[in-house]
Amino acid sequence: MEERSKNPKFRDFKNKISKQTYNAIKNMGFKRMTDIQSEVIPKALDGADVVATAKTGSGKTLAFLIPVVELVARLVNESLSGTFCIIVSPTRELATQTFSVLQDITSYYELMTSALIIGGESRKLQSLALAKGVHIVVATPGRLFDHMRTKEFDYKHVKCLVLDEADKIFQYGFEEDIKQIVNRLPKNRQTMLFSATQSETTDALIKSAMKEDVQSINTNED
Ligand code: ADP
Ligand code: MG
Repeated sequence: MEERSKNPKFRDFKNKISKQTYNAIKNMGFKRMTDIQSEVIPKALDGADVVATAKTGSGKTLAFLIPVVELVARLVNESLSGTFCIIVSPTRELATQTFSVLQDITSYYELMTSALIIGGESRKLQSLALAKGVHIVVATPGRLFDHMRTKEFDYKHVKCLVLDEADKIFQYGFEEDIKQIVNRLPKNRQTMLFSATQSETTDALIKSAMKEDVQSINTNED
């Protein structure tokens, strides 16, 4: 079991995150950050590119969702519209799980919108949602790239890209899709890459997709 007693409490971050996010975390019943959350959240809130490696079950989902929601909340408050963040997951199941946590963490935001864009579901309905400019998209690589090749999906306002379970994204053969997706997105964005293990393939992607001063965090080596 992970040693969590030295990690900050979410309450200590009350002045760094919005009330809506804080209340959602409280509602979910979480008090203290996990190791990876305490390392990633402050840096990601500051806008840093982050590569985070931490074993399965260590709380990576909220480590990226909290900074994502805070970034999107600021843009929504400025009355901007459009898709601001894309979160890529390797499988429909993982994307669906992440989307479900996203619903929990955004439950106090009245204006924030999101869509789950995965294979096996109606392209037409997904296209309609994307055309409206949903703020946050959670997607699998193949279907996301399909939509990026249509005029309905306007992704030029994207400010943040998250690659979750990046090691699996590559294991499952989505490397080419990811390259194409990354190439098409605006360069001026925050990129975060999460995985359970480090690998050479992800290292190569890091160099091409991320800023030079990327923050590498690995809680597997403690
Ligand atoms: P990972 O993506 O690293 O495999 P998850 O994000 O799926 O891990 O989280 C694993 C479990 O830990 C989930 O059930 C989640 O609700 C729980 N969890 C996340 N953050 C915390 C926290 N700060 N305190 C206690 N449990 C947490
Ligand atoms: Mg995960």
